[in-house]
Order: sequence, then structure tokens, then C-alpha cells
Amino acid sequence: MCKCGKRGCFETYCSMKVLKNNLIQAMDLNKDTSSKELLKILQENKLEPAVQNVIKEYINNLLIGLSNIIDIFEPQAICLGGSFVYFKDVIYTDLLNTYKEKKYVFNKENMPELKLAKLGNDAGIIGATIDKMSNI
Ligand SMILES: [Zn+2]
Repeated sequence: MCKCGKRGCFETYCSMKVLKNNLIQAMDLNKDTSSKELLKILQENKLEPAVQNVIKEYINNLLIGLSNIIDIFEPQAICLGGSFVYFKDVIYTDLLNTYKEKKYVFNKENMPELKLAKLGNDAGIIGATIDKMSNI
């Protein structure tokens, strides 16, 4: 169940909050573990089977969500920003490999590139500012 009241929303499966909560549960950590602490613990334990399962499930869900966006809009590229960039060392390479292997998209001959947003976690706020300025 999503906070918006629907079921099955992208946010419910692919938000960084969901990933963090699932990792905290898999590693039996305190619920108040900060993202910075979690990332350090994750890098030390990324080969643990329980952690690998969480990451694989997250990547699969993210690719299903992205494939729906790709099938509708057929973008040339998708830039992943937000706090995802903090977890790039433990997710990004597997994400790219799984994306190329599974090919969930309808048009398998013209798959868009998955990239990290150059502006990292600030991409959303800077984009919102630019959009707001363009409406003035
Ligand atoms: Zn929702």
C-alpha cells in the first residue's frame, strides 16, 4: 500500500527509503541507522546473501518500473539522481548488468542509456528551480 492510497506504485517498490528499510531489516540494524552509517555497513557486508537478496529484488523492481516508463515515453536516456547516487557503488554496476541481461523493455533494439545524474542528489532541487524560473 502506497501513501497515496493506491497499491503497486513505483514509489512503494523503488524509493530509496524502501531500499534502506529493507537493508536495515535484512542486516538486523537499528531503525534509526542513518544513510551514512547504513552505506558504510552495506559496503562491508554487501556480499552477505541477505543483503544480496535485498539488492537484487530492489534492482529487479526498479528495472520493471523503469521499463514501464521507457515503453511509454521511449527516452534516449534515463538519469538516476537523488540519494540513489550515494548507493551507486553497491547498486549501479549490477543495475546496468541486469538491465542489459533482462531487457524488460518492449523495444529491445533501442534501449535507452541508464546514467547517473551529473548533479547527483541535487538534481531534483536544481531542476525544480530551473522549471520555476522558466515560468516567471
Ligand atoms: Zn502511490
